[in-house]
Amino acid sequence: MWGFTIGRLFGIPVKLDVTFLLVLALALIGGVQVFLLIIILFGTVLYHEFVHSLVARHYGVRIEAITLFPLGGLSQMEEIPREYELRIAIVGPLSNLILAAVLYVAAMASGSAPTMTVTLDSLSYLDAFFSINLVLGAFNLVPAFPLDGGRIFRHLLAQRMDYTSATKMSVRIGQALALVLAFIGAIYNWFLILIAFFIFISGMGEMTLVSTKEALKGRTMADIMREMPPVLSPDDTVEDARAMMEDVKEHVVPVVSDGILVGIVHADDVSSVKPFLRESARVKDIYDDVPMTAQPASPADEIFQTIEQKRIDVVYVVEDSMPIGVVYKRDFELLTTLST
Ligand SMILES: [Zn+2]
Repeated sequence: MWGFTIGRLFGIPVKLDVTFLLVLALALIGGVQVFLLIIILFGTVLYHEFVHSLVARHYGVRIEAITLFPLGGLSQMEEIPREYELRIAIVGPLSNLILAAVLYVAAMASGSAPTMTVTLDSLSYLDAFFSINLVLGAFNLVPAFPLDGGRIFRHLLAQRMDYTSATKMSVRIGQALALVLAFIGAIYNWFLILIAFFIFISGMGEMTLVSTKEALKGRTMADIMREMPPVLSPDDTVEDARAMMEDVKEHVVPVVSDGILVGIVHADDVSSVKPFLRESARVKDIYDDVPMTAQPASPADEIFQTIEQKRIDVVYVVEDSMPIGVVYKRDFELLTTLST
């Protein structure tokens, strides 16, 4: 998943996901009207995400970026403190409903109430703007992850039970709603099936995230790490790296020089070197920077949160610059299965 930055607003980078190009292509084929409708839709989504982000920032949460996907927006932020989760979630849909109400009143004042019927023949951009805000606001209140309603609903449940059980229950309810949506979609509109699928998968992701963090609570990296695997030296050949990966059955191996961890080699790095050059090419020419290290005493749940956000697949545990152990991303998830 990669995107490109189109600009900054309030100091927050705004990115378009690469799949967004499809939507733009559609707009070019569809002509000016479709193009303007898409601009209104994404302007509305952007407004919704900025309200989330600015309120989150007000509570001290750092915002990485806002990314626009064809199905909506995503604010990438560091972990939201639980006491602010409700406020940060609810302001998104609320801001759309308030804007819809303002547009309604404005239209009434100018003599015509906006309608929800938008056809391309008799297109009113004001009607479209009103409808999109009303639908986006209402849709996001549906209690299903990753919609804001899922978070709001979990917060309400968490008043009566622990956070993990509240997540479990709200994910189940969201997935049940997704099945209903898929059923309706099968009859009326295949696009709904796509949204239902997205909701179903996101629910599973949220569940894994929360139960993994719960299972890791109170443990340190030293508690969960494995022994250091065999290591490469910068002067080893790329062929040595390939053979080692096959030996240890990992797609990533560490590079150590004078006892200090200097880099890692991924399977992609090896395959980027042509087979006949692997005996002569050296590890030092292809290795990557170490994505992340942790101290033995680092809390495991915080490290897990970071590697999830930054999509890192391995963390080395380092003491006085010397690597003493490793935790792969799957190890975190394995722990959950063992302890629940
Ligand atoms: Zn939202």
